Amino acid sequence: MSPQAWINLAYLAASMLFIVAFKLMTGPRTAVKGNYLGGAGMALALAAASAACFEKDVVASVARSGATPLVLLGVAAVIGGVIGAVMAVRYPMTGMPQMVALLNGFGGAASALVAGAELWNMTRRAVETGSERADAAAWAASQLAPWTQFAIATALTGLIGAVTFWGSFVAFAKLEELPAFKKAWTDPKRHWVNLGLAIATALVIWGLCANPGSVALYILLVLLGSGLGCTLTLPIGGADMPVVICLLNSYSGLAAAAAGFVIDNSVLVIAGSLVGASGLILTAIMCRAMNRSLVGVLFGGLGTTSAANADDVYAGKVKSASAEEIAMVLEGADRVVIVPGYGLAVAQAQHAVRELATALEKRGTTVEYAIHPVAGRMPGHMNVLLAEADIPYEKLREMDDINPTFPETDVAIVIGANDVVNPAARTDPQSPIAGMPILDVDKAKTVVVVKRSLSPGFAGIPNPLFAADNTLMYFADGKKAILDLTAALHGA
Ligand code: NDP
Repeated sequence: MSPQAWINLAYLAASMLFIVAFKLMTGPRTAVKGNYLGGAGMALALAAASAACFEKDVVASVARSGATPLVLLGVAAVIGGVIGAVMAVRYPMTGMPQMVALLNGFGGAASALVAGAELWNMTRRAVETGSERADAAAWAASQLAPWTQFAIATALTGLIGAVTFWGSFVAFAKLEELPAFKKAWTDPKRHWVNLGLAIATALVIWGLCANPGSVALYILLVLLGSGLGCTLTLPIGGADMPVVICLLNSYSGLAAAAAGFVIDNSVLVIAGSLVGASGLILTAIMCRAMNRSLVGVLFGGLGTTSAANADDVYAGKVKSASAEEIAMVLEGADRVVIVPGYGLAVAQAQHAVRELATALEKRGTTVEYAIHPVAGRMPGHMNVLLAEADIPYEKLREMDDINPTFPETDVAIVIGANDVVNPAARTDPQSPIAGMPILDVDKAKTVVVVKRSLSPGFAGIPNPLFAADNTLMYFADGKKAILDLTAALHGA
């Protein structure tokens, strides 16, 4: 068998490993195995791609410049590996969503750079080959003319890659809650800016297809894509961010798939398509969970302002309680539902929560967990957090499943959640989260809310739940509050 056939076989095996890994990752029990298989597939794909370097004439041109491709690959892998390892170790768990956003962006940027380099390489080679001819420039153009498929793939890679990089960068800044990015860009003129950029982008793509070797047009396209990435993501705020994160994840896959066509690499096409398709499915699921249309999220530009004023909502109506008082309420409860939110991740209170649940269960109380699809800062955030504390997966119940049970719930304990339990989504049409389905904790007999202050959540709006008659506020750090509550329960 020829070396190229072995490489193709390795690509096929890697692709199959990716597909099996995806299948295994759909269930919590098999997810770890799926992760390992995916990693093995990636290692195989990298080894095959390195071997393929020797099979291609691209190698010869790189080698001519002095550095062998394997040395270049090795240096790049070491630099990337060190940066990745430092980031993974230094970034706190609560910063994971931001890191995922950055990684999506880097994926897009890498695809755009690969396509640009390939375009530059092809153009240079065509010009070099034809340079001995009198009509060198015309000859080079004629060589490039049939490359329509190459040109389309290159244009799409550059465009999607640039949109992904800059969109992810803006998403990172929003998740990091950098002051300059906190407020959504809601100026109506943005639609005209987007329209102008879209028209210019279409014209440049057309120009690139007519002149497939034009590196200048490619750079222009990347610049326009960069602008679009920013202007499409800046208006999105409040509760719509999860949809955008999923969409950018999908874009990074699509950019990789398009880059696969540019450099004729089947495993990149398959892996990119898998990421692109799964990201789109996740986007659709998120849209459904948030009761939003994708077009509404992308072009609606819901801001982070609400007609409601915190003083009007809270003044004189908030009741706070101590650990001992709440323990007394819990003592008489038959059914308790724990509602985790982003603050649980900040406080790292998952192990403390399990101890509280065990203490309650020993007293004969039924304990379940209510999981909102966008609680936390990334899809599945709460599931991962609770799994870390070995909380049985069967006790985690999804929103549609648990909502009808709240009227029969004695106590709902909300720990570090805010937007996902905000009844304004149901009652205030002016609210940035209007229409978003929430966990109906306000229908429980008693609601205990654990948080440090009355400050708002990600959407930046007050929460009438904190002022409701059946709500007791417990102001403290999530972990300390739950530990104190468990101690008070033991002492009761
Ligand atoms: P929120 O962001 O609405 O609220 C979190 C609350 O946690 C805050 O009000 C904060 O109040 C409290 N908190 C912070 N630190 C602590 C601590 N140490 N101890 C106790 N409480 C703490 O969280 P939700 O989970 O309810 O909602 C998620 C929001 O994030 C939604 O708006 C969603 O759209 C958005 N989002 C979700 C993404 C996803 O994929 N899941 C991605 C991007 C955005 P205080 O400071 O007073 O303690």
